[in-house]
Amino acid sequence: MPTVLLIEDDAESRRATAELFVREDWKILEAGDGEAGIGMALEFKPELILCDLLMPRANGFQVCRSIRQLLHRTKIIIISGRDYGVDRTSAIEAGADEYLVKPISWENLREVIERVLPAGHDGESKPGPLPNFMPPATRVKFWGVRGSIPVPGSSTVGYGGNTSCVEVRADGEIIILDAGTGLRELGIELEKEFGSQPIRPTLLISHYHWDHIQGLPFFLPAYNEKNFLRVLGYQGAKESVQAVLEGQMDEKSFPIKLGAMGAVSINELKEMEFQIGRVKVQARFVNHPGICVGYRLTTSNGSIGFFPDNEPYDVLKMSAVSPGKSDSAQARAWAMEERARFVQFLRGTDILIIDTQYTDEEYAAKVGWGHGSLSSVVSLAVDAEVRKLFLFHHDPNHDDRMIDQMVEQARMLVLESGKPTEVEAAREGAEVWLGAKAPLSA
Ligand SMILES: [Zn+2]
Ligand SMILES: [Zn+2]
Repeated sequence: MPTVLLIEDDAESRRATAELFVREDWKILEAGDGEAGIGMALEFKPELILCDLLMPRANGFQVCRSIRQLLHRTKIIIISGRDYGVDRTSAIEAGADEYLVKPISWENLREVIERVLPAGHDGESKPGPLPNFMPPATRVKFWGVRGSIPVPGSSTVGYGGNTSCVEVRADGEIIILDAGTGLRELGIELEKEFGSQPIRPTLLISHYHWDHIQGLPFFLPAYNEKNFLRVLGYQGAKESVQAVLEGQMDEKSFPIKLGAMGAVSINELKEMEFQIGRVKVQARFVNHPGICVGYRLTTSNGSIGFFPDNEPYDVLKMSAVSPGKSDSAQARAWAMEERARFVQFLRGTDILIIDTQYTDEEYAAKVGWGHGSLSSVVSLAVDAEVRKLFLFHHDPNHDDRMIDQMVEQARMLVLESGKPTEVEAAREGAEVWLGAKAPLSA
């Protein structure tokens, strides 16, 4: 008896399809969302999969791609309520064998099944170890890694000149961390990837210094109403998120108003812990002029800390300077306590992306500017048992060679600590995967 797996979130239409197969003596498996469907496909290796296109937790395209990588003989038929040529082409490119438009009759189905499954439903060979199901990997991509101001040019071409912007794909979400100038290119790529499909990212902003918001007016998907860009941030020192972003696009500085971005919806954050779909987000205020936060994202494939601007507290201890506190011993104790809390917050983070703008020597002349120095960042990451540290918010004056040297220095410091933390410098265009499909690498 051949097996068919029905992946469809609408229980009613799943039942209707199941009835067609029952009459023809098929064994039927059912999954109510994309991820469950991928899991069952890998476990049971059915001869045939009927998969809906629009579903939560992995759409039909994603399901095809995931299954096709591991099961070569299972046939996949995408079922959709829509008949766009681009959907059909994308489905076939993703690994589907056929694309059928609802409503479907047994006559339709039989014809297609006979075409894709000739010679007696010969599916995957059954014996053999079952692969363990892993949800699609969490992916992190750097689109802008520079601090303060963009610095294009031959001396920065290695690490890149765009300012703060990182993309995270996890648990079916597109989460964008900061809207520095790197955001522009991400917008172009998203449009290419999604074509006529809607793009629904969530943008988390750390704070409203230029290098963290300047890309927004150039993010093309935000102007198209088929998309939905949710912008989240905390109230600034003087104004709301809305007012700050409107101000940036005031006619004094920019020819198009924020209101022309039909896809944008701005929400001011009140809580320090919330969910974006199934991704847990924890925010933390950091030591930086004005209101500035960093975020820790917990995905089903690991965690990511993003602290683009931050001056570590332990340097206050070293300099024993803390405005408003006359007693330096007290100031030191306070700084150490804050640092301990930060270490606790970051503990066990898989990927930490953090402000390491200065070398220790440079920092000595820039205490109180709100940025990190190499040794304090490394000791923070080591104490928090971070798996992989990415130096970030590179100083505009640092060329590629300088950043290479900082990475080497940081690795020496980790070596001395005896801890296993890996160190890289964030590089524009680099991608890191967390999860089963690829090893952790940049
Ligand atoms: Zn910055
Ligand atoms: Zn800043």
